[in-house]
Amino acid sequence: MNNPVVLVIEDDAPIRNLIVTTLKTHDYKYLTAKNGSEAILIASSHNPDVLFLDLGLPDMDGIDVIRQVRSWSNMPIIVISARSDDEDKIEALDAGADDYLTKPFSVEELLARLRVTIRRLALMSSDSSADRSVYTNGKLTIDYSAGIAWLDKDELKLTSMEYKLLCLLAKNTGKVLTHTFITQNIWGRSWENDIASLRVFMTTLRKKIEPMADSPKYIQTHIGIGYRMLKVD
Ligand code: CA
Repeated sequence: MNNPVVLVIEDDAPIRNLIVTTLKTHDYKYLTAKNGSEAILIASSHNPDVLFLDLGLPDMDGIDVIRQVRSWSNMPIIVISARSDDEDKIEALDAGADDYLTKPFSVEELLARLRVTIRRLALMSSDSSADRSVYTNGKLTIDYSAGIAWLDKDELKLTSMEYKLLCLLAKNTGKVLTHTFITQNIWGRSWENDIASLRVFMTTLRKKIEPMADSPKYIQTHIGIGYRMLKVD
């Protein structure tokens, strides 16, 4: 994707300027909005590639911006917020945000999150064009129609739960999935002990797909929040 357009939604001028300067320096195009209603208007009229969204906006809560945008678009939303509680991050992710960054943030971190998101966009567009039933990521391959996964050329011996988990993460590569989202998708509910079971299944799945347990390449843990499948070269 050439020069993706980022819509920066932030009422705090110094932070907005910092983000805009960072984007300009790295050849990204940008648009800005100072409040929620302006953001929704620009998002719908200019169709940006990515949204950077502050949650504490003067006219409305950023969570409501996410819900409104999600009612008509899947454009990636990266929350940049001073709210650091897990509950706030989870609420934003469950409302449809793709990722979050807590203030104060480093410019490097901001750019890293943006790169992850843009790779996910590229992946999504290549997926929709071919309507692929085979997923590949690094050495990992999943044939959805056959229900088989491989690492390199070795077929993975996965339990049906591990396979379901792997597919859910793969189909949402690049996106942070909350514990609630995952357990709702797999068990249709989200009880405290489902989240405990999820940890167990995740541990056994990782043993089978991560060559180095100490430095996972495919599945990233967001402590207290959930998991994300990373795009691997
Ligand atoms: Ca604010």
